[in-house]
Amino acid sequence: MLRSVILAASRSSQVERLVATAPYTRDVVRRFVAGAATDDALRATRGLVDDGLAVTLDHLGEDTVTPEQATATRDEYLKLLKMLGGAGLTPAAEVSVKLSALGQMFDEQLAYDNARAICVAADAAGTTVTLDMEDHTTTDSTLEVLGRLRKDFPSTGAVLQAYLRRTESDCRELSSAGSRVRLCKGAYKEPESVAYQSAREVDKSYVRCMNILMSGDGYPMLATHDPRMIAIGEDRARWFDRGPERFEFQMLYGIRPEEQARLAGEGYTVRTYVPYGDEWYGYLMRRLAERPANLVFFGRALISKK
Ligand SMILES: Cc1cc2nc3c(=O)[nH]c(=O)nc-3n(C[C@H](O)[C@H](O)[C@H](O)COP(=O)(O)OP(=O)(O)OC[C@H]3O[C@@H](n4cnc5c(N)ncnc54)[C@H](O)[C@@H]3O)c2cc1C
Repeated sequence: MLRSVILAASRSSQVERLVATAPYTRDVVRRFVAGAATDDALRATRGLVDDGLAVTLDHLGEDTVTPEQATATRDEYLKLLKMLGGAGLTPAAEVSVKLSALGQMFDEQLAYDNARAICVAADAAGTTVTLDMEDHTTTDSTLEVLGRLRKDFPSTGAVLQAYLRRTESDCRELSSAGSRVRLCKGAYKEPESVAYQSAREVDKSYVRCMNILMSGDGYPMLATHDPRMIAIGEDRARWFDRGPERFEFQMLYGIRPEEQARLAGEGYTVRTYVPYGDEWYGYLMRRLAERPANLVFFGRALISKK
């Protein structure tokens, strides 16, 4: 219920205005977002890489409605990749891209062209691209674009969401050799017709999907902060004899940093997903919807007069 309300608020421009102008919003945002500028993203990446973590960078922005906005997003990724390469931060750092930010909502071909240009730049910088997954109305289109990109850039990563009923089947499709697949629970509000609704059902699906990916031939990327899912991931890695070069854990910037360090210390590959940019509102609201404790922290900051 609370999750639905917050996810509804994530689409409201009135709530966005209220949140954006509240006095202590900046402190809360800073916990989950590396900063507004490309330099901020680079600085955060350097710190994480020095701590033994891998990174995937996301330039925030998803409500792209014009070709000009889509081109600007593409150009930001091109600039970022050039800077990452120049700073010697590749291949430790790669990029995560939302096709909606590249024009998918109004022109799938434009989104493909923009994503392809980013893949070319990533390849030149010696790193990879992962296509984030958004709400279920975009899944087919995103997988279609992924298939086209993989013809020239086979290391392009996919994201599959365990809450969708279709995902076990998608995992089977995408568990072939060399296929990089991030498995997450899913962050959007989805109808019962397409998605499991209870946390228990989603967790059970996550484990089924993890079993398919970890026993397959691809490169699984287990994106979760859930201690139970992480423990099962560690168990499956032992069971299927997957060393740190054959799968990875992924977590979000600012969430369970001690656990990220612990896993990296144990020798696992751990990749931190680092968002940056000034369009942080939708991203922040999805993080709040996931965890009531984050909401209390945020609420305190909003009403604080200090
Ligand atoms: C790297 C990465 C990339 C992602 N990409 C996508 C994407 O492309 N598309 C998409 O839809 N979603 C994406 N997500 C979001 C994902 O779908 C989930 O919404 C999000 O990760 C929350 O699910 P969870 O598995 O972490 O566990 P949850 O079910 O949210 O939490 C389970 C348990 O984990 C622990 N936990 C969770 N958060 C915290 C915290 N802040 N502090 C301490 N303990 C905590 C608690 O014990 C909690 O009970 C991504 C997530 C990650 C980590």
